[in-house]
Amino acid sequence: MNKTTRYITIFLAAFVLGLGLGLMVKQYVLARYPVSHATSEVQSLGRIVGPPAPTPAAEAEKLLPLRDAASQDTQSGPSITTTFSLDLPQSKVNAWILMYHYIGTPPDPAVDPIGYNLTIKPETLESQIMLLTNLGYQPITMHDADAGKGTANSIVLTFDDGYEDFYTNAWPILKQHNWVATIYVITGKVGKPGYMTWDQIRELHDNGIEIGAHTVNHIDLATATPERQSQEITQSKASLERVLGSSVTSFAYPSGRYVLLTLLLFQSTGFTSAVTTHPGKASSSYNAYELPRLRISPQLTLVQLEKEVKPIKSGI
Ligand SMILES: [Zn+2]
Repeated sequence: MNKTTRYITIFLAAFVLGLGLGLMVKQYVLARYPVSHATSEVQSLGRIVGPPAPTPAAEAEKLLPLRDAASQDTQSGPSITTTFSLDLPQSKVNAWILMYHYIGTPPDPAVDPIGYNLTIKPETLESQIMLLTNLGYQPITMHDADAGKGTANSIVLTFDDGYEDFYTNAWPILKQHNWVATIYVITGKVGKPGYMTWDQIRELHDNGIEIGAHTVNHIDLATATPERQSQEITQSKASLERVLGSSVTSFAYPSGRYVLLTLLLFQSTGFTSAVTTHPGKASSSYNAYELPRLRISPQLTLVQLEKEVKPIKSGI
């Protein structure tokens, strides 16, 4: 075999293997994600309304032509024996996960409509906590819920981005009512104007608030390279663990955006749960890295919230 023939053989073998892997990923995903989730997350930092997040199912659709090409091109080729495994753990969380961003005075909706839609007044947060308490709900952190410590009465409060107003406005209310919460911190923003400092984050952690990761720079995981995704996920975890001195197991996708590759990365990161912006109640029908949440918008009334979470007291 001369040099050229050898190169051509190597090239063809690599090509066929690539097509085969694409086919296996696609088949797996279509079996695993038969329904495409839609999301309408707004980007809280860029103040830009983003397009619907690509989902694994949507990504799988893009592989369809590849599958067709592969089936034609490999009919007389070597059989592929490599197996592909995406072994995502089943969720142990069986609870509503509420999603908050800013807690404070809402900006003028005419000037900053997205900021307005991401801001809940402190008194509204407090009345929601009182309502949920009256309905029989008890707060639990994502970590504990994910460890299977939840009950039918459990509810999870999550706050994205690590804004300073969590420390100044939300925490005093939570403390007063003896409620815990999970916050997802953008580690690259810590100490910047409008964001909490490391000291504040450490204090919250020492007082029972769970600290989760939300990447280093709030990047779009749906479009970042695999290397960048991996860096942002693992470095945010490492920074938090270094400061807190304990393991960080919970993650939230910035603006709810991720792709199949992101889920693949989570197999080896040490995170045990990741929340999305897909609407719904978390249960064992979800995998642990695609947990849905209930967005708390300023338009949501207490009556609507009560209807959404289906009061557990009346069902007993
Ligand atoms: Zn965010």
